[in-house]
Amino acid sequence: MPVLYIVVPCYNEEAVLSETAKRLGEKAAQLVKDEKVSKCRIMFVNDGSKDKTWEMIERFHAEDPETFTGLSLSRNRGHQNALLSGLMEAKNHADIIVSMDADLQDDINAVDAMVDKYNNEGCEVVYGVRNQRKTDTFFKRSTARMFYMGANVVYDHADYRLLSRRATEALGEFEEVNLFLRGIVPLIGFKSDKVYYDRGERFAGESKYPLKKMIAFAIDGITSFSVKPLKMITGAGFFMAVVALGFLIKAFVDHYTGHADAGWPSIMCSIWFIGGVQTVCIGVIGEYIGKIYGETKHRPRYIVEKYLG
Ligand code: UDP
Ligand code: MG
Repeated sequence: MPVLYIVVPCYNEEAVLSETAKRLGEKAAQLVKDEKVSKCRIMFVNDGSKDKTWEMIERFHAEDPETFTGLSLSRNRGHQNALLSGLMEAKNHADIIVSMDADLQDDINAVDAMVDKYNNEGCEVVYGVRNQRKTDTFFKRSTARMFYMGANVVYDHADYRLLSRRATEALGEFEEVNLFLRGIVPLIGFKSDKVYYDRGERFAGESKYPLKKMIAFAIDGITSFSVKPLKMITGAGFFMAVVALGFLIKAFVDHYTGHADAGWPSIMCSIWFIGGVQTVCIGVIGEYIGKIYGETKHRPRYIVEKYLG
């Protein structure tokens, strides 16, 4: 029977953490009792929280070191990096690792089915896929949909998934700084499957992904995995060439029919139009250059400050 670690990134989660720990603790005991896993531990990753999150994690560990363990990053590095740090630590101790959010939005009962897929079918990657997104806001849904434009991702899957140790080690080989795990995991390969679950409301506390962060995350997802925006520039360029040709023809026609007009409105319009389009294009190219800049620095993606147990 495998050893299971459940990795939970936490950023300012003091409002939900007690409940999360309680429910996950019960889940861990139940999984062992049902003989699905030989051991189950919960690893909370404190992503540089400013509230009592880390103190709470330390307390869980002190009260029940067999079940709870924790990792604290030296500062806030964002959900994806926090999750990665937890996975990289957990793979040294576990056969299988499930990652989930701290806010209990992901139905923890889906873990059973994920573990079954590993035990019975030998799946090394099991995606948790939401049945519906009714509980998310319109903005959340539409920004989330933007991801699917770029990467080859599993539809309606967030970061609730099971990875085997082998798959996690493979994940560690991806060295990108602009981390978008949902896009990378399908690139690992191995036998994989999906488990469906209902996504609930956040149990308590506020979303740590305000609209601004969501959009930034979506842009990251697109530019890290796809050259579609670059192709769109090419398309826009062709379109502009055709428009310019049209103007040229019109100019000739006007000239020979003697209707040449004063001209300044058309000039002003085209200057502004082309200027705008060019700025957008430069912006898109800038996105990619920004990515290259980030990658060439090879900075560490996280720094662990403390590790419990
Ligand atoms: N999170 C994190 N670092 C951050 C932001 C979020 O570790 O900088 C964690 C957060 O504690 C939660 C998970 O990432 O466990 C998802 O965040 P949240 O539930 O706020 O996002 P949403 O469900 O609204 O997309
Ligand atoms: Mg959430």
